Amino acid sequence: MPSLTMPLTRGLGRAAALALVFAALLAVLAPARSSADVDPAGCTDDVQYDPSIPTYQDVVGRPLGDGPTGNTGRDVTADIYKYFDAVVAASQSNPRVRVIEKPYGRSVLGQRLQFYVLGTPDNIANLDAGRRDAPFWAGVRDGSVSEAAGLAAVRTRPVFGWVTATPHGAEPAAGEAIARNLYELAARTDCWNARRLRDMDFFLLPVRNPDGRDAIQRTSAWTFDHNRDFGTQNQIENGAFLPQFKPYPGVFFIDAHQTGNGYFFPPNEDPVHHEISDFTVDFIGDLIGPAIRQAFNDQSIDYFNYDTYDLFVPEYGDTVPSLLSGAAGMTFEKGTSELYGKQVYEHYVAIDETINVTVRNKAAVLTGWVKQWAEAVRQGANCFLEPNELVSPLVEAIRRQPDYNVCGYFFRPDRHEGDAAALIRHMQNQGVHVYRFGHDVNTNGVREFGQDGPSTTVLPKGTLYMPLNQPLKHWIQSVMGEDPFEPLEFFYDVATWSYPLHRGLAGDGFLTSQLPPGVQMTEIGDPGLGTVPASPQPVYAFETDSMQALAMVFELLDRGVTVDRGRDAFDAAGRRFTTGTALVNGASLAARGVDLAALASRRATPVTGLDGYPVAHYAMETPKVGMYTPGTSEPNNPIRPNAGAPSPGHCATQQAGASTAANYCVALFTLTQKDGLPASMFTPVTSLDLAANRLVTQDYTVLLNANGTIPAGPGATALQSFVNQGGTYVGTLAPGTTSARNAGLTTLNTVAGSTLNEPGRTFSTPGSNFTASFATANPVAWGFDDQGFIYRDNSSNPIYDPATMTGNGSTIPPATAAVRYAAPLKSLGYSRSATGPGKLDGRPDVVDQPFGGGHAVMIGHDAFYRAWKESDERIVLNALLYPTGGVKPPVAGAPRQAPAAPVDAQPLPKSTLPAVVSRPLRKGRATDRDVRIQVARRHATKLRRAVRAARLPKSARKRVHYVKSRRTVTLVVARARTSANDHRRGEWVRRIMGRLDRRGVKVLNAQL
Ligand SMILES: [Zn+2]
Repeated sequence: MPSLTMPLTRGLGRAAALALVFAALLAVLAPARSSADVDPAGCTDDVQYDPSIPTYQDVVGRPLGDGPTGNTGRDVTADIYKYFDAVVAASQSNPRVRVIEKPYGRSVLGQRLQFYVLGTPDNIANLDAGRRDAPFWAGVRDGSVSEAAGLAAVRTRPVFGWVTATPHGAEPAAGEAIARNLYELAARTDCWNARRLRDMDFFLLPVRNPDGRDAIQRTSAWTFDHNRDFGTQNQIENGAFLPQFKPYPGVFFIDAHQTGNGYFFPPNEDPVHHEISDFTVDFIGDLIGPAIRQAFNDQSIDYFNYDTYDLFVPEYGDTVPSLLSGAAGMTFEKGTSELYGKQVYEHYVAIDETINVTVRNKAAVLTGWVKQWAEAVRQGANCFLEPNELVSPLVEAIRRQPDYNVCGYFFRPDRHEGDAAALIRHMQNQGVHVYRFGHDVNTNGVREFGQDGPSTTVLPKGTLYMPLNQPLKHWIQSVMGEDPFEPLEFFYDVATWSYPLHRGLAGDGFLTSQLPPGVQMTEIGDPGLGTVPASPQPVYAFETDSMQALAMVFELLDRGVTVDRGRDAFDAAGRRFTTGTALVNGASLAARGVDLAALASRRATPVTGLDGYPVAHYAMETPKVGMYTPGTSEPNNPIRPNAGAPSPGHCATQQAGASTAANYCVALFTLTQKDGLPASMFTPVTSLDLAANRLVTQDYTVLLNANGTIPAGPGATALQSFVNQGGTYVGTLAPGTTSARNAGLTTLNTVAGSTLNEPGRTFSTPGSNFTASFATANPVAWGFDDQGFIYRDNSSNPIYDPATMTGNGSTIPPATAAVRYAAPLKSLGYSRSATGPGKLDGRPDVVDQPFGGGHAVMIGHDAFYRAWKESDERIVLNALLYPTGGVKPPVAGAPRQAPAAPVDAQPLPKSTLPAVVSRPLRKGRATDRDVRIQVARRHATKLRRAVRAARLPKSARKRVHYVKSRRTVTLVVARARTSANDHRRGEWVRRIMGRLDRRGVKVLNAQL
């Protein structure tokens, strides 16, 4: 069978130019290579194995890689660890090699997380102590060791490289492969291996997702895809691991996955994120890629490059190490279609050859790696964003380039403190430096997130500043930037992901020109924003313009403290407070013995003392939140494991007959783990509980429905009754709205996305950020006084029809939009056919529907998407705290609260309640599930031939159709694209794209 490698001409232009970079380095370094070419003493000429190092079979009792095709032959985590631990023990007094274990935490289900470091005894002794190789390279990455010192050490100190197994637990072969790399590195006595040990420290991580590996499940125990979480690090396994790049930066990082057939290694496909350094692209494209290709050719192993694997979104095991560690971050993929031993072997070969080529070119590689850090600082000092470049000529032109400068990111001292501080801490954990202004700074080039041109303004004393003139400039820009400047309309995953926009940090922003000279600023550690008054106060006030501050309201209520929230913005104690400000009764705080200072410090939320209640306000009831699950029992999850599930505690495995749990588990994780809300406030409400009217009989305050459908029937009837009697319903996405319609709570409806299409331009928001308008008179939008953003994770997110918010003229009153798309609307990054008159502009996105004594809040996007968005968590927490009593007037200078006002909305009489019947939304289609490839109309025949030649699987072939416009034709393979099959559909997608490329057909737009 012929190799699927792309033609040799592919990418030659850029590759040839880039090869010069390494060729030049190698030439310069060549004269000095002789000293390093001396073989270490005592090595053997031929390959022999040290019998004191045990084999895998010696320790585990079965041959390494024993097993059939697929993944069921994998050994469990305990066996992999058992072997590594045995080699650690066997190497402790070995004069040639040493292996040590570095634990870094526990998985969700309690398994050990650890990596291993292998090198000569001398190198291991000098890793953290003695010569301190690790602090030295960390210093180069950090800028505290000079470039000159770094360059002077490229021959004398060992280079670091990371070999890691995929975080996808159902793709296990790299675990055994790395065990074989371990054995070969540790046991071989030949001179080449001795040189490898002398010149490199190996960081081996055989199991990144032990819970998934043992359950043979792709995801974390909370059903998150770790490979979409490597940057945000919401999953504990990633959050514990990623900070290890700071002390141990490597020049390469292998993330070894599995696909259906064959073997993939980079070079990658376009797009490559513009901030990926030239070193990374060149090292992969000029050295590693060709070396593995050679090794695979020598052994006649089938492989492919480029493919659909891009290097764009900073969330993966390749992009994140590239940006964060300056490494050649690489995804390897081995098909599961062959015997397990073959899967293991091919990963072993690719890893082994990556090591070889790095050691062979150690000085040149390290020279390039060292130089990129100072280069990044220089770019940052010039406020320069790297331009987009293409690595494969599939398309004619780069769609767009970065078109403004960025000098740094600022955080005003009085906005969103809790979430800004959490973001700053997260960035500091990766090695980013942040500073505080010592005085007011009047500067130009100030551009707030979501705004247009820069302006001149005063950034007040205390403003926190993250400048780009620091070594991690590429990382900072890639995650903080509001626009990633997509070079192509190719989407493998989301189009945007800006951390500040996801946190709703409106009012903060970036500088597009240099600060004026003479600004005094000092580097900070913890931002230390959570301050409280020194003496007892009648009332404590804190703004709720961050998720962290809102979470503090939940914590106070959970501990029995009396909390109200202000209806309006107000001025007091010499400062401005935004809508929804929390007003904590000092006497109840003291009575409950709650340490407000500790809470405020942890949540980085500043608290001000007040004499009374200077604003109209509402009492907050302690929430009792029912988490709706469409099944008849609570899904198996880490908080309440189900002993009857195949893998108790792992959300991806459920007892036979139980429904899937991802929506439930992701929401439960977001609220109780990420946001840290008291878990006791969130209890399951199954379809049976709902139908049995437990919301009412068990005094729930809210039903939270994360993307589930409540059909017309007893459950919907009970929901209607609950809301009518004063309860709050919160539902997300189309199922959340459908449920409210079925229950007769609302007339809200949607329009199909296709109504926004333009000729040849399908409406598309594949993870797109938009400016938004928040109605802060509505409690759901409290605290959004600076406005904010809406993130559509998917083109099929509901598009509400504002004409359907009018109610039925009697029992269903008009609804209110708490959040709308801005008008005119701005798309921050990529979207298509989404903005302009009649498009998303001005449409409602979060709708508050009053009904009887309560409310239904419908959120038109996935508020829990990957637990990425504090901004949405704020919306949800506001909705969960929806006040149920009437407004209370201001109370001047009084420490005691006025009595609660009467409830201002009354239930409808039972006889007048609307019918509970099935009311589906207007039909739309989830176009994000389609594979789409668009070419010029004149290439229609070539496109059809490419599809025929690609031999699609029957299931996909049935779903093929073509959409024509005057200028274009688009292949649509309907519903072929799911989150779990991204490795496998690549096989036929690759055949189509490869043939188009060979026939000279340029692709205009692709969703692959
Ligand atoms: Zn994978």
